Amino acid sequence: MSQRINFLKHNNNNTIGRLDLNMPEQNFYELSQSAFKQRPDCAYCHIPGDKIGPIYQPNFFTFPVGKVSVEKDLYNNINLRKCKQCGLLYKDAVVMVEVQAQIYKESNHRYNYKATNKYITRKVEIIRQMCKKENSHLLDIGCHTGDFLKLARAAGFKTSGADYSDTAYLGHEAVVSESFYKGLIEEVQFPDNCFDFITAWDVFEHLYDVSNALKKIYTALKPGGYLFIETGDVSSFGARLRSPNNWWYVCGLGHFNFFDIGCIRRILGDAGFDGITAERVRHKSIGDLNLLEYGQQLCKSMAFSVSPKAYKYIMGLMSKSGGGTAFPCKDHIFVIAQK
Ligand SMILES: [Zn+2]
Repeated sequence: MSQRINFLKHNNNNTIGRLDLNMPEQNFYELSQSAFKQRPDCAYCHIPGDKIGPIYQPNFFTFPVGKVSVEKDLYNNINLRKCKQCGLLYKDAVVMVEVQAQIYKESNHRYNYKATNKYITRKVEIIRQMCKKENSHLLDIGCHTGDFLKLARAAGFKTSGADYSDTAYLGHEAVVSESFYKGLIEEVQFPDNCFDFITAWDVFEHLYDVSNALKKIYTALKPGGYLFIETGDVSSFGARLRSPNNWWYVCGLGHFNFFDIGCIRRILGDAGFDGITAERVRHKSIGDLNLLEYGQQLCKSMAFSVSPKAYKYIMGLMSKSGGGTAFPCKDHIFVIAQK
C-alpha cells in the first residue's frame, strides 16, 4: 500500500493511484494534517508575517477535481498572513507538493488554454509583437498539459516547458521543441541566460518559495529577456467583495500566495527586474465569456457571495461541486518585467 494513503484518500471505493478517468467528478479527496506543511514565513522575504485570520472555506476545492475535503479543525488553523516588508498575503499552511501532484495526476485535469479563447491568443500575440528575432526561445513554467506551449510553437517560438506533474511530463514531447524541465520551479536547474521569454500563467499563487523561483527565472532569462506573469489580484473588487479570507481564489487548495499590483512590482523590482508594467485583467476563464455566460457567472457569484453554504447546498442538489465561483471582474494581474 502506498504511503500516500496516509494523507490522501478517496471516500469512494477507488484506491489511491487508480485513475478513474470516466468519472473524475466522483473522486472526493479527504486530506488530513499530514497533507500540509507549516509555512509561517513570507514566501518572498522569509520573515514571519502578521496573522489576519483563518481562511473561510465553504468548500475547500481544488481545480483538478472540484472537490476536496479537509478536516474541519485543520482548516480552521490555516491563516492568511500579511508580510510587513513586501505586502504579500499568504497561507501559513500549504498542501504538500506530493499531494497536489497526485491529485493533478488522477484527475485528468487539463490546462485548458484553448486556441479558440481570444484572451489566450491575445497573450501569444503580445509576446510575438515583442519579439525582435526569429525563433525566439520561450519557456512556459507550470506548463501542465502544454496547451499554451502548443500555441506558442504554432506562432514560431522555440518552446521549453517546466512542471512538476507527471501528467505534464507524459505529454511534453508534443508541445516542447527544446527541453522539458521536470520539478518544482524553485528547485529546477535551468541553463543560465537561455530564454528570450518566460511565461508563468496562473503559477505564482502556487509557489512554495517565490524568492527562489524568481532567482531561477532571472538567471535563466537572457539579458533583456521578458518575464510574463498572470496571477490573482487580492485587492480587486472580486477579492474584497467578502474579504480576502473568503475569496474563492483563496479557498483554492493549491493557491498559497496572493499579490496585488504594488506587492508584485515591489518583489520583481527587488529581484532585479526592470521596466515592470502591471495591469488588472480578467482571467482566461471569464475573459472569453459571451453575454449569456457572463450573466450566469454574475448570478452564481452573487449567490455564492450572499451565502456560500446555501450556494454549496443548492449546487450539491444538482450534483455540482459548489466550489467558489469567480465574480466576473478584473480580478487578475498581468505583469511584464524585463531582465
Ligand atoms: Zn514578504
